[in-house]
Amino acid sequence: MIRSLLFFVLLLTQVGCHGTPLRQQHSGIELIVLGIAQDGGVPHLGCQKDCCVEARQSRLRLGPACLALVDHRSRKIVLLEATPAIEEQLSLLRQLVGFGNERTSPIDTLLLTHAHIGHYTGLIHFGREVASTDGVTVHCSERMASFLRENGPWSQLVDLGQIQLSPVSPGQPIEVLKGVIATPLSVSHRDEFSDTMAWRIEGPERTLVFCPDIDGWNDGILESLIEGADLCYLDATFYDGRELPGRDLSEIPHPPMVVTMDRLSEEAAIDPGRIRFIHLNHTNPALRDASVRKEIKRRGFSVAEVGERFRLD
Ligand SMILES: [Zn+2]
Ligand SMILES: [Zn+2]
Repeated sequence: MIRSLLFFVLLLTQVGCHGTPLRQQHSGIELIVLGIAQDGGVPHLGCQKDCCVEARQSRLRLGPACLALVDHRSRKIVLLEATPAIEEQLSLLRQLVGFGNERTSPIDTLLLTHAHIGHYTGLIHFGREVASTDGVTVHCSERMASFLRENGPWSQLVDLGQIQLSPVSPGQPIEVLKGVIATPLSVSHRDEFSDTMAWRIEGPERTLVFCPDIDGWNDGILESLIEGADLCYLDATFYDGRELPGRDLSEIPHPPMVVTMDRLSEEAAIDPGRIRFIHLNHTNPALRDASVRKEIKRRGFSVAEVGERFRLD
């Protein structure tokens, strides 16, 4: 019962009380977190464990990892990932920023990491049947762009000009808002349909890194990803492998949170809250287990929360 209550409270804090989070006024450029779960979200289709049974009973949902960059002056919106929960996530964004209802296009620019379902299939709502957007710029890798261009239903978005593909190469900086530079970084991740990129976003004053999916922290990739970044949103699909009983930790194709915390213990101690975990699987105890959350906090790390916001200027 206590566990169930905690889960309920945690989920409420994710969306704000009864889905009506307090609106704050900002004048500059902001990062806002709109989703923190793995591709399947919470509750997860077919899961009959406590994690998802309780979420269903509470009618609460956590959408897949998604960030928004908002320029309050120009009222432009850049989205990192188009998730299956895109409508819900953009509704929350409108509530948080206090504008957007007047917009004809839901967003201005989209940055994508890769072609797994939690990261791009929200694009399905950009087509004729729903928003029928007009030339939304989509930055992604060349291989991801080819995938969208050559496979339905995504190809129709391209053919009708509803999205404008603008492929970028790893290391190539692009200005996505006035004074905000986004640079993709190549990362290893199972690549059935596309390769995978992380994104580095440099605002006028603060820099963030978004790496929701990666196989592991090999070849110094972790250190180069976080170097000089003020906020680092990193893959936290699994906590310590207890979510996958019987599986060898070293064979799980994601870096467990405990490994990331061991690797970055000094950085977290110096600057608590700088390393923020995102892309949590529905089974991850960091979503609901009070002792696990306490341990994460004690070590100077944070689990990202839906609705959290940081100024980049
Ligand atoms: Zn994913
Ligand atoms: Zn993936």
